[in-house]
Amino acid sequence: MRRLDTTIWQVPKANVKNLNKHATLDLIRFSPSGISRIELSRELGLTRAAVTAIVGDLIKAGLVRETNGQFSRGRRAIALEINPQGGLVVGVDIGATHVTLVLADYLAHVMDEVEASLDIFQGPQVCLPFVDQFLRSWLDELGVNLAQITAIGVGVPGPIVTDAGMVSGPPIMPGWDLFPIREWLEKAWGCPVTLGNDAEFGALGEWAFGAGRGVDNLVYIKVGTGIGAGLLIDGQIYRGTTGCAGEIGHVTIEENGPLCTCGNRGCLEALAGGRAIAQKAIFAIKAGARTTLSELPSVEAISAMDVIAAARKGDHLSQKLVQEAGYYLGTALANLINLFNPTKIVIGGGVAQVGDLLLDPVRKVAKQRSLKVASQAVTITSAVLGKRSSAMGAVAQAISLSLHQLAEAS
Ligand SMILES: [Zn+2]
Repeated sequence: MRRLDTTIWQVPKANVKNLNKHATLDLIRFSPSGISRIELSRELGLTRAAVTAIVGDLIKAGLVRETNGQFSRGRRAIALEINPQGGLVVGVDIGATHVTLVLADYLAHVMDEVEASLDIFQGPQVCLPFVDQFLRSWLDELGVNLAQITAIGVGVPGPIVTDAGMVSGPPIMPGWDLFPIREWLEKAWGCPVTLGNDAEFGALGEWAFGAGRGVDNLVYIKVGTGIGAGLLIDGQIYRGTTGCAGEIGHVTIEENGPLCTCGNRGCLEALAGGRAIAQKAIFAIKAGARTTLSELPSVEAISAMDVIAAARKGDHLSQKLVQEAGYYLGTALANLINLFNPTKIVIGGGVAQVGDLLLDPVRKVAKQRSLKVASQAVTITSAVLGKRSSAMGAVAQAISLSLHQLAEAS
């Protein structure tokens, strides 16, 4: 069984007794077919009596329940699992052009999901009240009271100052710099909010429920309007000194390339991000390229998702643009593979929904340009959770926050 380092999660400050409680909760949580008290004491190095006492507290608090699990050698024993009815959480994924909300129970079973368009350039004063209203009317429709939600995870596409609950110098979030996002939302919703980077949440989502299950050296790449990476190194999210680690969208690919939103030239994002793909399509149409995209009502309003839809239907220009993005992405990933030597790279986000058309050139170039010993060890794959990876990471984080806070109070 895999031991989980609880420091991956944002665990509230804890004393030794509570640390054992947190470790017990996490072991129960990430044992898919349940775990017995005996196994818990073996895994945690605690006495049977200590485990029995901790489990007793957790059952009394309604966080854990007993179940008839199937164990090795066909022997049936009482197993423990998280009580899904313990409460509800919401995962929020705010992208540059959309917001996704996911309602889930404590076992991360998705009960409903909804998405709306949003323009992050409008800043927090417009976007946050919109997200607040969107969440309230959605819960109303579902007949769920906001008071039933025990925590909400919110992912945003910028570098996070975790302790402060804000973003710092985000290239594609003008006007959001140092705005107290978490504080604003906690005031509005009256429950704990955990703020995270969208790519980091993507890595957590895929690690907990998707393509990266059980992988300790995992990289999640979100290819949307911008490009970001969530780095899971030795079983822990790596954020760097100022929360900026994983900003792979701003590694230089072409020294004198196109201007990027960050102010530099030739960044990966300026060559292969969703915005870049859309701009290249518009430029090509104006230069007289033949493409089904020119049949769209407004050429100026063409988005990356339009290009992807056309590429899927066989449009030659669109396919060429996606493949070109794949080559640039592959180059950046070769550097990342040499730097971090990961076991798995999971590619998600809106642009990645096009599948192998993007992934084939990515794999080819990443392999060609990285060291053999590193490239042979890594698998590059699509996100199993699709567009939902970041929202599910936000759900996982919200469940952690709820369980650990309630456990401390028990
Ligand atoms: Zn840049």
